[in-house]
Amino acid sequence: MKKINRRDFLRSSVAGLGSFFVLPAVDQRSEEQKGDRRKGPRKFAYRTLGKTGIRLPVITMGVMNSDNPNLIRAALDAGMVHLDTAHGYMRGKNEEVIGGVIKERPRDSFVLATKVYLPRDESTGLYKEAATQDFFLSRLDISLKRLGLDHVDILYHHNVWKRESALYEPVLKAMEKAKKEGKARFLGITTHRNEPEVIHAAVDSKFYEVILTSYNFRQKHHAEMKQAIGTAAQAGLGIVGMKAIGGTHLVSKGKEKIDARAALKWVLQDPNVHTIIAGFTTFDELELDLSIMEAPSLTPGEKSHLQRMQLSAGLYCQGCGECLQSCPQKLPIPDLMRGYMYLYGYRNLGEAQDVVLSLTLPHQVCQDCGSCSVKCASGFDVSARIRDVVRLREVPPEYLSA
Ligand code: SF4
Ligand code: SF4
Repeated sequence: MKKINRRDFLRSSVAGLGSFFVLPAVDQRSEEQKGDRRKGPRKFAYRTLGKTGIRLPVITMGVMNSDNPNLIRAALDAGMVHLDTAHGYMRGKNEEVIGGVIKERPRDSFVLATKVYLPRDESTGLYKEAATQDFFLSRLDISLKRLGLDHVDILYHHNVWKRESALYEPVLKAMEKAKKEGKARFLGITTHRNEPEVIHAAVDSKFYEVILTSYNFRQKHHAEMKQAIGTAAQAGLGIVGMKAIGGTHLVSKGKEKIDARAALKWVLQDPNVHTIIAGFTTFDELELDLSIMEAPSLTPGEKSHLQRMQLSAGLYCQGCGECLQSCPQKLPIPDLMRGYMYLYGYRNLGEAQDVVLSLTLPHQVCQDCGSCSVKCASGFDVSARIRDVVRLREVPPEYLSA
């Protein structure tokens, strides 16, 4: 059977979506071609990751969407220093590819972060019984083996959206043990939904040292985010931004495209964000990020562009949860929208499929409603997006090529 690549899948989407979106190509250039686009030393803006004391350039690499070792090498060679991955990315291949790159380098020449996710109830965000200390530590040991390391620099409690989960004792005990045993230098938490609640819980815990959070100009609650991030930074926590572009690679035909440079710079205008992990997949996107690291100030033109773009729906689900009560099937809609963003925003079929397969869904999804009763706060046609993304359930994982 022929492998299914991004274009095959996205072109076959329902309701004509394939022709609605503009898809940039994924860059698989070889080692010889990766090259240094600009000769001579480059001067980047740096910030300190809170009380960890780690100095990082303002943009670093979120490796989630790339299994191209040459791109990772190029990012490190250019001075990005920090690589962010997770136990589950690409079902472990992401950590293995990184392991192959970093084994060639001195341990103090890079800062490595990984994350462990635990089983939870999708509708409440609370942990299931299987979310034990042993579960967490066994995943960490597998990650260390894949990475070829005896310790990571930052170990994250992954994808939390409830205060109770942020403070869940078995996880805290596991993380504390990992740190005591020298398997992690610093402990962190990640959130991309209900973020202010999690950020405040992290501060109150006096346990976490780093927060990795969604933060972008399209968040309706970005003023609340700014305040929560300020509180955390004031308490000495390191703040790492993600989803800075919010899945904006794709735009409707005929509409103005969101400028990724402006979106990234918008996050960096907040001095309490110490670095952004950017999920670039091409050498051109890497070069764009390097140029922002040299000159992160927003121009007047970029500011007015962002004001115009703030109003368009795009692909970014706010995670507000307003849809949850109006779906009679109680579908985990924010998670499905996240999968949709991975699929169309990041062109990452594997991660999108992992999200879909991790959810408890009925056999027939969105087939029994005469019309969809969900009103999305961002104006998404939720039902069409769900029917589109759940098609990933039908694709055997081994047939998804990068
Ligand atoms: S069509 Fe709408 S209301 Fe019905 S299951 Fe799907 S999301 Fe829920
Ligand atoms: S209402 Fe829309 S934006 Fe809010 S969580 Fe649901 S899908 Fe996302």
